[in-house]
Amino acid sequence: MTQTLIVGQGMAGSVLAWELHQHGHAIRVIDDGHRTSASLAAAGMVNPVQGQRLKLAWRIEDCLPVAHQFFEQVEKEFGETFFHRTPILRLVNNEKEKDFLDQRLADERYQPFLGEYEQPGANTPLHDDFGGIRIKHAGYVSTAQLLIKLREYFEHEGILCDAEFTHNELSVDENGVRWRDLSAERIVFAEGFRILDNPWFSDFNFQPNKGEILTIQSDQPLPDIPVNRGKWIIPQGKGAAWCGSTYGRGQTDSETTEAGAADIMAKVANTMPSHEFKIVDHRAGVRCATGDHIPRAGFHPEHPRIGVFNGFGSKGNVFIPWLAQRMAEHLITGASLPEDCDFRARPPRKKRQA
Ligand SMILES: Cc1cc2nc3c(=O)[nH]c(=O)nc-3n(C[C@H](O)[C@H](O)[C@H](O)COP(=O)(O)OP(=O)(O)OC[C@H]3O[C@@H](n4cnc5c(N)ncnc54)[C@H](O)[C@@H]3O)c2cc1C
Repeated sequence: MTQTLIVGQGMAGSVLAWELHQHGHAIRVIDDGHRTSASLAAAGMVNPVQGQRLKLAWRIEDCLPVAHQFFEQVEKEFGETFFHRTPILRLVNNEKEKDFLDQRLADERYQPFLGEYEQPGANTPLHDDFGGIRIKHAGYVSTAQLLIKLREYFEHEGILCDAEFTHNELSVDENGVRWRDLSAERIVFAEGFRILDNPWFSDFNFQPNKGEILTIQSDQPLPDIPVNRGKWIIPQGKGAAWCGSTYGRGQTDSETTEAGAADIMAKVANTMPSHEFKIVDHRAGVRCATGDHIPRAGFHPEHPRIGVFNGFGSKGNVFIPWLAQRMAEHLITGASLPEDCDFRARPPRKKRQA
């Protein structure tokens, strides 16, 4: 009998499925052909140091080595490169950010992740009035390429069910769960932002956040590593780069907009003032975050056979492999989940009842 049904084959469902399948745990993955996939839209950055305050990401020392390990493992399995390991050039925007950077440079915990401060002018013709720094142990993942490979693998292993999951057809009792002709001991939802439509989880505080990304093309030479000065510029070869992204809190549509493109292009033009570009592609997706920016795994407080693996926000590639290992251990051996991300111990705050 199937032990675990997983709904969703984005990065979250895929990595969890990979981890369980590697350990001989019987799974089935149900996915609707990536109909609403944040993972396919994503820029794929792996960046340990985030935001204007240049803060280390949540549990970075735990997550980063496991992320590196996971990408190495799938690269070996499929004989393709998915994770492009490269430093990121983080240009400083203003005095305030420079103050934060000075604090981080003096903090031992940040030492492994930060290079030397690079003075203004060191990265001309980029706009670097306040200097910059290279972030180490970073890079970006060709997430779409990896997801397609994993889908083929799950299909080949006979564990993929290409279908739209319908919540009203799920029956649950003390022995297990049943959906159409599939029965299992339990079900884990990894639906991305569509958790908002899940009757067991919709009143928990998962937060959608739409993002748009452009592909631009230039005849002038682009930086050879990813650059961030308010927005990302990630070189893709042959004069092309991905740039983004936008943050549309509460938005759940995947439409591209002129306003989104204008927002991105303004920042890109500010970072590379002497360049000319044309936009050659534009895409959008919806992230699923939590209020405290900590993802959640585990089981519903009142339904022990209904689980969740979600809330990875804009850091899926960093957080998912580590939390997938923890969730897999929890499912296989009963090991406890880390308390800060255990759904049962710390469900995202419930919405106030009207
Ligand atoms: C514009 C943008 C930029 C981003 N940039 C980065 C970045 O640089 N670095 C980074 O680490 N992260 C980034 N992210 C975030 C990253 O994409 C997510 O954290 C991660 O992909 C989430 O994966 P997921 O599997 O939870 O969700 P998703 O990728 O959304 O996957 C959910 C899957 O479940 C399927 N599904 C949902 N409901 C059902 C149903 N009822 N039946 C069947 N199938 C269903 C969907 O079709 C989809 O295939 C970005 C996201 C966006 C939108």
